[in-house]
Amino acid sequence: MEFHDAHCHLPDNYFYREIERFMQEWKKSGLEYVISVSSNFSESLRSIELHKKYAEIIPGIGIHPWKAKKSLTDEQKNKFNQLVEENLPVVIGEFGLDHHFIKKEEYYSHQDETFRFFLSLAEKYNLPINIHLKGAERLVAEILETYNIPSHNILIHWYSGPENILKKFIERDYFFSINPSILGGSKHIIVLTQAELNQILTESDGNVKYTIDKERIVGSPALIPRIIERICEEKEKDVLEISNILHSNLRTYLNLD
Ligand SMILES: [Zn+2]
Repeated sequence: MEFHDAHCHLPDNYFYREIERFMQEWKKSGLEYVISVSSNFSESLRSIELHKKYAEIIPGIGIHPWKAKKSLTDEQKNKFNQLVEENLPVVIGEFGLDHHFIKKEEYYSHQDETFRFFLSLAEKYNLPINIHLKGAERLVAEILETYNIPSHNILIHWYSGPENILKKFIERDYFFSINPSILGGSKHIIVLTQAELNQILTESDGNVKYTIDKERIVGSPALIPRIIERICEEKEKDVLEISNILHSNLRTYLNLD
């Protein structure tokens, strides 16, 4: 079975330092693509470097909302713009808004500015986006409407917010990445029950740790086959059919078809 991971933090030292061993292991078990999301500029450089080594690694470029604590300088904006332009096509991510884990409201305007800067980049270069929106779901819904980004290029990562906003996103036909937290009984399962099969991708958000059957497990592409099994149960389809749908969804999201 082939599978993908639409959101994994490969520039993190945990993966980066042993990427050869990890890639060998994951490819052997069927990894087709992994999107290497980045949280700042130096991680974005690492994602590009990893992509040059492995065609299976798709580079993500962005600033995580947890790191958006200052106004972006023109120099920073130019550096990101140049990095994107020289390495097209890339994915924009991880970026977005977080009003849940980040409590200090003084950072919110910087998050907003950074979010909008990367949305403009995605709009300018016609790129897929990988969005973090914890505690700011309504705001993200409003802001997204003001950018000309096709719905099939919008991926909502690890949604766990209000149901009415989820419904709105489903109606807008965005993509949603389903992650290993569903194996531990999280609220995130609602995305799987409500979204259509052609709106779903899979992700690990590695190296986030999950509690599954009372065990602490490090997220990585190695967990994706277990998510696929769970999707099969929920949607009452067999593994081959689900993996074909997921494969084609990822291609649509990445503008590969
Ligand atoms: Zn992440």
